[in-house]
Amino acid sequence: MITNITTEQFNTLITASSENIILDFYSSECPPCEALAPILEDMAATYGEHLTVYKINRQENRELALQLDVRSSPTLLFYKAGVEVGTRLSGVITKSQLLDSLLTVFGIKEVGTSLKSELPETIDVLILGAGPAGLAAAIYTARAGKKTVVLKGKATSRLEMAHLVENYPGLPPITGKDLLQVMEKQAIGFGAQIIKGDVLELALGSDPKMVTTRGDFFSTKTLIMAMGKGQNQQSIENEERFVGMGVSYCATCDGAFYRGKNVVVYGNDHEALDDALMLKQLGCNTTLISYCKSNQCPSELIEQAKIKGVHYIPNAKILSVQGASMVSQIEIQLPEGKQTLDTDVVFIIQEVPSQAVLQKAGVSITSKDCIAVDREMKTNLPGVFAAGDVTCGGLQIAIATGEGVSAALSALRYIRKGV
Ligand SMILES: Cc1cc2nc3c(=O)[nH]c(=O)nc-3n(C[C@H](O)[C@H](O)[C@H](O)COP(=O)(O)OP(=O)(O)OC[C@H]3O[C@@H](n4cnc5c(N)ncnc54)[C@H](O)[C@@H]3O)c2cc1C
Repeated sequence: MITNITTEQFNTLITASSENIILDFYSSECPPCEALAPILEDMAATYGEHLTVYKINRQENRELALQLDVRSSPTLLFYKAGVEVGTRLSGVITKSQLLDSLLTVFGIKEVGTSLKSELPETIDVLILGAGPAGLAAAIYTARAGKKTVVLKGKATSRLEMAHLVENYPGLPPITGKDLLQVMEKQAIGFGAQIIKGDVLELALGSDPKMVTTRGDFFSTKTLIMAMGKGQNQQSIENEERFVGMGVSYCATCDGAFYRGKNVVVYGNDHEALDDALMLKQLGCNTTLISYCKSNQCPSELIEQAKIKGVHYIPNAKILSVQGASMVSQIEIQLPEGKQTLDTDVVFIIQEVPSQAVLQKAGVSITSKDCIAVDREMKTNLPGVFAAGDVTCGGLQIAIATGEGVSAALSALRYIRKGV
């Protein structure tokens, strides 16, 4: 049985206890937390005589979470006789990772659990990126009958920016946009599913691999990374330093921590507006900052924001986030000059910087910030491949599609043979 506890119960039930304890800091509206729940229930049922599992809502026990330096949900902490031991697990947590921790932290051996599968259904090939590399890969894997999902991030494919392409073999001059549409149609025609979403977290050491976006959670046998070069990314000073400490990429996941506080949403599109309105409903003093000029932003965005009481600042760029341990201020660039704004959090609703996500997942990166691959587009991790501009292979459409095809063939081989 798993018991939900509060901050007040933390000392009596955890630090004053002589038992082996797993403490799960979770949040509502958190796909990896939902995926972890049945695994923890199974662990509690199977190993109940060796350990106790407690859950604590991170949003409702924010001070304790901060005190324990818990920055993301879910985070599992392990306690032995009242003292935290071992290495914390956070983000996408698989059953095998948890079993490994039980062995190393508590010395508990696996006895075989009743858990049939971990949510959700495992797909064959997950492709990150809907540019020529990702779509070429999808055409091959979907045509081979494999369940293929392509994630299309917020960043614009570089191909979409190409005014006229004259050097793609076999085609007369064509706009980048049209060429991309043809590729997309072809992939969908073979059964590939294209879903909007930026990758927030990757767990690639396990089988299946787990991928989290703002709204979804995927389990996949193989992964092809084709996220391009991300030249659109605007760098915000200190952004990475404050992730989890006042910088967030997911208002749905973390918004409830900031009820009644000053919040900033940074983005240009309807997702940013929806997030701003949701935060306003939570009672936050909400500011929406967009970097499009006011006459270029969707007009409904401005109107709705104003009607609902969201403070709206167009044509502004966030230059830096500042604070001691938590964000307390941001510096913004306006046409008339720089300005500072007090805030407790910034929700960045634009593309998520891939480098940090990749590094955390253990993907080898070259000194030129490209994903390291061999001739078969294999990365350093089994079942994980990369293609296109992310590998810095030549920065051309034909090279991106060629690498996408190679990565697809390697992924199909991996599914067939495990190598
Ligand atoms: C102006 C311009 C003109 C060009 N003209 C030519 C030309 O004439 N001929 C030529 O051969 N090449 C040309 N190129 C280069 C060519 O467009 C690129 O080499 C090609 O688009 C690379 O393909 P890709 O699939 O690797 O990446 P991209 O096309 O950049 O696609 C990347 C995809 O990944 C997605 N993504 C990014 N981050 C994430 C994330 N975290 N999660 C999920 N998805 C994510 C993006 O949304 C996008 O769908 C041009 C480039 C530019 C900018």
